[in-house]
Amino acid sequence: MSTEVNMTQVRAYGSAHRYFQGPGALGLAGPMCARLGKRPLLVADTTVAQLVWEPLRSGCAQHGLQLEWAESNGDVTRALVKEIVQTVTASGQTPDVVIAAGGGKGVDTGKAVSRELGARLVVLPTSASNDGPCSESFVYYNARHEMESVEHLPRNPDAVIVDTQVLIKAPRALLISGIGDALCKLYEGQQARAANGLNLFGGRSTVAAEQLSLTCDRMIRENAVAGLRSLEAGVPDLAFENLTEGLVLLAGLAFENSGLSIAHSMTRGLTRVPEIAARLHGQQVAYGLLVQFALEQRSQEFMAQQIAFHHSVGLATSLRDLGVASVDLEVIRCIAEGAMTAPHLKHFARPLDAESFEVAMTTVESLSQD
Ligand SMILES: [Zn+2]
Repeated sequence: MSTEVNMTQVRAYGSAHRYFQGPGALGLAGPMCARLGKRPLLVADTTVAQLVWEPLRSGCAQHGLQLEWAESNGDVTRALVKEIVQTVTASGQTPDVVIAAGGGKGVDTGKAVSRELGARLVVLPTSASNDGPCSESFVYYNARHEMESVEHLPRNPDAVIVDTQVLIKAPRALLISGIGDALCKLYEGQQARAANGLNLFGGRSTVAAEQLSLTCDRMIRENAVAGLRSLEAGVPDLAFENLTEGLVLLAGLAFENSGLSIAHSMTRGLTRVPEIAARLHGQQVAYGLLVQFALEQRSQEFMAQQIAFHHSVGLATSLRDLGVASVDLEVIRCIAEGAMTAPHLKHFARPLDAESFEVAMTTVESLSQD
């Protein structure tokens, strides 16, 4: 951002350019690719490619486009992305539209490849496991499977296509994780706004972002339990569609346009414990949200309601739920120290220290036992 502009006085808003969601929406990928370019490339792992290749290939062919596929198994590393880019440009026919398909990793690999190629980007999530599809950021991992850096695209995706006929077949644990990730967004945004923080576009949050966050929360609260039932039945009904919009579109808009706070800061500490690091991101931040509420000194009644909702959808309410066999002060201290390294800590009403995290975690541990 320009140093001459006082960004604390500028409201900033951004979003994916187009969003389509519904049963069979996959069929829109071909025409969308034709609008955006001439040489589409699918970036996906083998499992996802088997799922979407044929409808994508024929959809592209109907518009005179020949779809190619680059395999993206494993973590999103600089080495993997470099290798894909070298392979797909070897013929001299550089792809100009990337379809990034899959869960978190698959989508992120596609985002990284699109940036390196300078290509347009169509995101095709196969589960509602996180709020990444609509965002302009992705994460690089190192060879040790540790998060290396948060990266940014020059713009948000050109299109996000969410086929609920595909998402309805995703594993239950992934949908629960998506619920956990999205549930944090209203409350983290509220803290970021209260602290006059800047959002992920480098400006102040808008009234629009606040309203989208409130609606995100409502869609989750009203549809999560019913949406999980729809998943079991394998039918993308109204509850599932509303829940999906909450998790993929609204949560993405909410966090980029509002900012993050304590719930996500907690992952810096939680991932220092190997058992917790192995748990899904949404489970980690769902627990982190309870710690944020404890730091906010919410009432007993509010805490009880939150814990009850977490239980109703299968989200972690304690370190034990996150896989820690014996919870002691040493574990709590280790997590607290890690949380203190997070950049989003400044998005809180008051300065925090490691001890305040220890107290908050101890509170959550005891409340979740009740
Ligand atoms: Zn998240």
